[in-house]
Amino acid sequence: MARRKILPMTMAKIEPPPPPPTVKLTVDAAALAHNWRTLDRMSGNAVAGAAVKADCYGLGVDTCIPVLSEAGARNFYVAHWSEVAAVARHVDPNSISVLHGVLNEQEAAYARAIGARPVINTPEQAQLWSQTGGGPCDVMVDTGINRLGISPDDISDPAIGALDIATLMSHLSSADEEADCNRQQRDLFARLAAQTKAQHYSLCNSAGIALGSAYHFDITRPGIALYGGVPRQEMDGQIRQVAYIQAIVMQIRQLEAGESVGYNGRFTAMGDHRVATVSLGYTDGFLRSRGTDGYLMHNDKMLKILGTVSMDMIIVDVSDAPDVQTGSWLDVPFNLPDAAQHSGLSQYELLTSIGPRLRR
Ligand SMILES: *Cc1c(COP(=O)(O)O)cnc(C)c1O
Repeated sequence: MARRKILPMTMAKIEPPPPPPTVKLTVDAAALAHNWRTLDRMSGNAVAGAAVKADCYGLGVDTCIPVLSEAGARNFYVAHWSEVAAVARHVDPNSISVLHGVLNEQEAAYARAIGARPVINTPEQAQLWSQTGGGPCDVMVDTGINRLGISPDDISDPAIGALDIATLMSHLSSADEEADCNRQQRDLFARLAAQTKAQHYSLCNSAGIALGSAYHFDITRPGIALYGGVPRQEMDGQIRQVAYIQAIVMQIRQLEAGESVGYNGRFTAMGDHRVATVSLGYTDGFLRSRGTDGYLMHNDKMLKILGTVSMDMIIVDVSDAPDVQTGSWLDVPFNLPDAAQHSGLSQYELLTSIGPRLRR
């Protein structure tokens, strides 16, 4: 909610409801549920959880979590403690794991108060968790990404041995590629799992699920593929697009040869053009890099972007789309694998850069 000055009661103004927005994100709930069920099925004997960090990768916790929960997800992953409360409004807090672990006593106290599990990443964190009261937690063991997690040698550390481990997990560095390290990480994780008492074991992100049953263990942790990302070809045709972005045409104008468009006149017309100014800009996540060779769609017409993307506007060529008028809705290409290839951004970046005006 936007911050505003709190007025004394007598001065409080009744705010009129705002008119409908001119740029919108639509989340296809049926596609989201389909993707979770598909990934759960592809996970074989394991159950799929759901990575819901970063506001469900930009698509909105309040929109997505009820759908994922209804579809059957029972394990939810966020990165920060600040993300837990919003998720816990929809699901049992002890189904939430916090990947960044507990860095200090304040975080440990908050974990207990709200009832979510930390993912312990160092022996020091294990000690902190035990000294502040213990209780169920998860443990991340780093099998080769060298990012977060205890090292394989730490598995025998008494501080780790003292924990009540719900899920022992690790994370693949290159599951979206054919890489020898996938097999090496899997084998190392299997060895460490055999040495560690935990209720469940978990290795795979979305891409890892496609590597086969040897990788699945008990719980998988898909994120990007839930939201329409296709990290590996095996998932092509099985994962449905979830996010749709549209923006309205605010003005139409005619350009004559020699006139240029937008900041710094980066596009100059060679002849006559009919152009539309659209309510979409880089603050909405449509970064300037997407303007170069980019386009919007109207029905099946491609509308080329002209000039530089502004903060709140872009200009598209509608010379060949006479039905585009002021008030027409244009579609932003958001099939993630295609849009990634076209823009040079990753499928993850395309989703998580969706701007604040589109979030609900
Ligand atoms: C983000 C994350 C996931 C989900 O990864 P995707 O590639 O989006 O499926 C799984 N596990 C961990 C530890 C993560 O940080």
